[in-house]
Amino acid sequence: MSDIEKFQELIDNAKKIVFFGGAGVSTESGIPDFRSQDGLYNQKYKYPPEQIISHTFFVYRTEEFYEFYKDRMLFLDAKPNVTHYALAKLEEKGKLIGVVTQNIDGLHQLAGSKKVFELHGSVLRNYCTKCHKFYDVNYVKEAKGIPTCSCGGIVKPDVVLYEEGLDDAVIQGALNAIENADLLIIAGTSLVVQPAASLINYYNGKDIVLINKTSTPADHRATLVFHDKLGDIFSKLNI
Ligand code: ZN
Repeated sequence: MSDIEKFQELIDNAKKIVFFGGAGVSTESGIPDFRSQDGLYNQKYKYPPEQIISHTFFVYRTEEFYEFYKDRMLFLDAKPNVTHYALAKLEEKGKLIGVVTQNIDGLHQLAGSKKVFELHGSVLRNYCTKCHKFYDVNYVKEAKGIPTCSCGGIVKPDVVLYEEGLDDAVIQGALNAIENADLLIIAGTSLVVQPAASLINYYNGKDIVLINKTSTPADHRATLVFHDKLGDIFSKLNI
């Protein structure tokens, strides 16, 4: 039996699948990992991305924050890919109880997923820091420089910046899903960023399937490991 056939069998037998995904899920929709620094990046930005996408930087260098944010983190033309759609279908069939994601692009919901735990928030939600009025992503993208509210306050994306804590309710929802899962699929993450690495310790089930281009610290715990593109795996499954 090939590994794909074994994966298919695990999915067929599972009733409570949880998918835990990282940047690799979105890169296949053309959204680059903002942490990756290419040549263009170095010409343009004086600071590493981890510093720009921090709470301190947002507060003290808001204009530079937004220059980077609009350029490197907003990809509004991106469409869900085969992995997003496969997961939405598994949920619709009652086999998947949650998607836990480190991505902030909203593509899982766009594909039809309902139970999505966005650990790092979403670029699609934005709030005035003064009066908490909601603004959509187009408002932020189209604003010249810093997006401001009609009350004069600065609009901030509902995205967890470095130095900021994760949302308790989201964490709790993700933990509950993982604790109750009977199959955990981990994909597109190198599992070196917290809390991703520790979240999977809450899994009580037997089988873990890990899909990532490079090896991860959890490979030894997995029933199946694929060092492939996600789309190549999910397009071979019968879901
Ligand atoms: Zn306001």
